[in-house]
Amino acid sequence: MSSPCTTCGACCAGLRVQFHKHHVAPDGLVPADLVVPAPARDHVRLRGTAEGRCAALDGEVGRCVSCSIYALRPPPCRDFGFQGEDGRDNPGCDEARARHGLPPLDRSASAA
Ligand code: SF4
Ligand code: SF4
Repeated sequence: MSSPCTTCGACCAGLRVQFHKHHVAPDGLVPADLVVPAPARDHVRLRGTAEGRCAALDGEVGRCVSCSIYALRPPPCRDFGFQGEDGRDNPGCDEARARHGLPPLDRSASAA
């Protein structure tokens, strides 16, 4: 089954993504031009996520999207599984989708 995220992208266009600066290149993986300082000490934020859309998100939310730094994305992105992924509950996925007028995922379909 392909990931439901490739036709969604709602969480990349609505959540502030913040993490410790040691995840930024050259010490970490995240390209330095995609982060800005965050209020929390020693933390950074993915550029654009405080303004409604991550700068690394390509495509149209709710239709066809991709992450231009998928292999280099920071821990919060890696940890944010879609609702029902691996049997885990993530109400944040439902909430992000709802903000873009998208229905919650059918958990029974993702468990199949
Ligand atoms: S809101 Fe859920 S389904 Fe949509 S991209 Fe994020 S994790 Fe995937
Ligand atoms: S880095 Fe990729 S996965 Fe993370 S918020 Fe941006 S577009 Fe989404």
